[in-house]
Amino acid sequence: MQVYRLPALSDNYIFLLHDPERNTAAVVDPAQAKPVLQQVRSLKAQLTAIFNTHHHSDHVGGNQELLENFPQITVYGGAEDRGRIPGQQVFLQAGDCVDFAGRTAEILFVPGHTKAHIAYYFPPSNSRETGELFCGDTLFAGGCGRLFEGTPTQMVASLGQLRNLPDDTRVWCAHEYTLKNLQFALTVDGDNSDLQQRFAQVKDARARSQPTIPSSIGLEKSTNPFLRLDFPNLQSATNSRDAVQTFTRLRGMKDMF
Ligand code: ZN
Ligand code: FE
Repeated sequence: MQVYRLPALSDNYIFLLHDPERNTAAVVDPAQAKPVLQQVRSLKAQLTAIFNTHHHSDHVGGNQELLENFPQITVYGGAEDRGRIPGQQVFLQAGDCVDFAGRTAEILFVPGHTKAHIAYYFPPSNSRETGELFCGDTLFAGGCGRLFEGTPTQMVASLGQLRNLPDDTRVWCAHEYTLKNLQFALTVDGDNSDLQQRFAQVKDARARSQPTIPSSIGLEKSTNPFLRLDFPNLQSATNSRDAVQTFTRLRGMKDMF
């Protein structure tokens, strides 16, 4: 399974998954149809599926036009997004599975950014592969999504599920927010040398307009404050005693940053 990262709108990424054996493609969160259609045409592939993580327009904006071009597509999304995702046909719950390119993705229910948000996790199917996580607006490189519909307790549990995936899992998040996220992270975890090093790399990459996605679970665990809620440095920076309180205060500080 080959993953193509397609920039869209101002800072979104659309991910096109390609199965070279069957020459089929699936798209994760098509913000727009045009970049997807271009990539599918250049691969001369057949688009068979849309995997949506949540209903926001910068994730489903291309659904309708893609359906018009490929009427046989199956549109997947979270069960609780019923009525909010254009063309949705499959309503996924935690523990459900979807197949693509001979691999099987596990559905993780990760509410917080929205009440219905899901993530798609493809575990490695052999020793040469890594896991691939498509987590929408739940986990970002160096940060996490804002809480629009969920509670801090839900988001902490959702991030905890992602944190438990293997360290080498590639994290395909839906926005290029890394530099700003790490600038904030340094204000609460400035003594973290892994974070300092990552910030320097990301600053350099962005100065050259290079993408910072995918990240990995291991890198996020060592540098993302929202995956380090139980670390004493972060608890003292937020003057809190437990993970949910630390999360709530960090999220509030980031919203104002
Ligand atoms: Zn969103
Ligand atoms: Fe988004």
